[in-house]
Amino acid sequence: MPRSLVTGGAGFLGSHLCEFLLNKGHEVIAIDSLLTGTVANIEHLQCEQFKFIKHDVTEYIYCAGPIDYVFHFASPASPKDYLELPIQTLKVGSMGTHKALGLAKEKKATFLLASTSEVYGDPQVHPQREDYWGHVNPVGPRGVYDEAKRFAEAITMAYHRFHGLNTKIVRIFNTYGPRMRPNDGRAIPSFVPQALRNEPITVFGDGSQTRSFCYVDDLVDGFYRLLMSDFHEPVNIGNPREMTIRELADTIVRTTGSKSTIDYEPLPEDDPKVRQPDISKAREILGWEPKIGLEEGLSRTIPWFRQRIAEK
Ligand code: UDP
Repeated sequence: MPRSLVTGGAGFLGSHLCEFLLNKGHEVIAIDSLLTGTVANIEHLQCEQFKFIKHDVTEYIYCAGPIDYVFHFASPASPKDYLELPIQTLKVGSMGTHKALGLAKEKKATFLLASTSEVYGDPQVHPQREDYWGHVNPVGPRGVYDEAKRFAEAITMAYHRFHGLNTKIVRIFNTYGPRMRPNDGRAIPSFVPQALRNEPITVFGDGSQTRSFCYVDDLVDGFYRLLMSDFHEPVNIGNPREMTIRELADTIVRTTGSKSTIDYEPLPEDDPKVRQPDISKAREILGWEPKIGLEEGLSRTIPWFRQRIAEK
């Protein structure tokens, strides 16, 4: 039975990944500081093959026994979170990645880094291909996340080149699905609860900025294909269907049958104007492309938010 360790295992993506790996027959160890993650995300996974350790991965990671795969998914991931936790974000992307790589090296495990489309910053090349080096403001408010992930990619490639570690880097574009924290500040977890409560939808700027949203199950399938490949360079995983934020807000209002109106609020500093993954590489190397469209993905996600609201 393969044994996997997932840092950030109690987070949104981490918990979906743990579930996927358990279904593939892995034994899974989830590590999480619970800074932005929660045990509620993994409660349903409790079984003999699953273990949770509360630990901050910027500190030495001790784990007895063999490990085949290390997934480094720990990090605050919404702009609101990493603006509130700037030092922790820098530490988990730098020191946390170093510790997770050290563990993978010790255990001779394959290492997969959760990187991000934020490495492209406010991109001047559109759509974004993996060979674009990006346009990041290192000292802006988003720099704490973007530069931490850029460092994480650099140290991962160094462990690959210098230590011969089997490493993978996935650049994750905007993702959504159940277990996102309502009001974590991101667009979908803000808009859906607002729509369900018939409150105004808070669109930042004029809403003409674009994003491309991928449903979480598609994403996790991409991670696994990358893990099983012999490819070491970064690979974009995301849904190339691009839309404006205004279009997203309208779709959510329509899908929920809401009476919400749109409230325009100031655009946050350094908010990227466009974002769309070029997924040619994922298609070619992994035979991967997303299967779940926005309407279908939203219909699987809205009940999650509806339930969170009902619990309050
Ligand atoms: N956004 C918005 N209203 C919100 C939250 C986000 O208009 O309540 C915008 C945000 O400014 C950005 C886009 O939606 O242009 C996506 O934001 P998110 O925080 O989800 O992710 P990002 O892609 O910026 O990391």
